Amino acid sequence: MLSEIYLKRVNMTADVYAVCVQHALTTEKQEIMGLLIGEVDENERTSNISACVILHRSDKQPDRVEISPEQLCTASMHADQLANKLNRPMRVLGWYHSHPHITVWPSHVDIRTQAMYQTMDPLFVGLVFSVFQNNARSRENQIQVTCFQAVQEHSEVERREIELVIQPSSFENYNLEGIANLPKILIQEEVECHDVQDNGTQDELSALHNDAFKTLALVHIVCKISRPLCDDLEQRKRTINQRVKELENLKKNLN
Ligand SMILES: [Zn+2]
Repeated sequence: MLSEIYLKRVNMTADVYAVCVQHALTTEKQEIMGLLIGEVDENERTSNISACVILHRSDKQPDRVEISPEQLCTASMHADQLANKLNRPMRVLGWYHSHPHITVWPSHVDIRTQAMYQTMDPLFVGLVFSVFQNNARSRENQIQVTCFQAVQEHSEVERREIELVIQPSSFENYNLEGIANLPKILIQEEVECHDVQDNGTQDELSALHNDAFKTLALVHIVCKISRPLCDDLEQRKRTINQRVKELENLKKNLN
């Protein structure tokens, strides 16, 4: 049975939103997932999300996302470290996952998973990022996000939408580290996936073929993720430098 206590609102910093979207855009074949960290205002029933943990997928099944107890534990430890560093009560507040090529609405499995987390923490929240949805008219890659909790409706568990507010923020170092680690996590997943197939029983030709595929997958990560990520960060740096110059000029004029 679910608790009657629900969240009213979720505030998320723009840099965490950027990390989640970048993460969701890394693959259109499988769903990706991660955990959200921040502070919760129990009186206001508001969650303030200011950091996240990108999770490594051990199981690359399409339409299946599962967070292992070990991953939850690692994320809690990460939240504790942040709490110590920032001297703020940071903890794991929710989870996010992607829906590539499908609608943003959480599936029945998602709502059941969400309900399970809420039995442990009534204010736990779920976010879904729908990516690679082509709009027939504009042909653009649409990104949609929804924020939800599970609610008990008679004998059924249903979705309840929670207000989500993206708040302006600068890129915090710990979120920058998260995004910088993304290619590393993806490479680790690729290497593990290929090492499982390579069990020493392959003939030379198969080994060569599989190695070529592994190389292709790694090149794909560099081309499609690392390079654009570097370009994006360079662009941010240029924008910030420009802003610094503008503010310095303004200061000079004020003097
Ligand atoms: Zn889902």
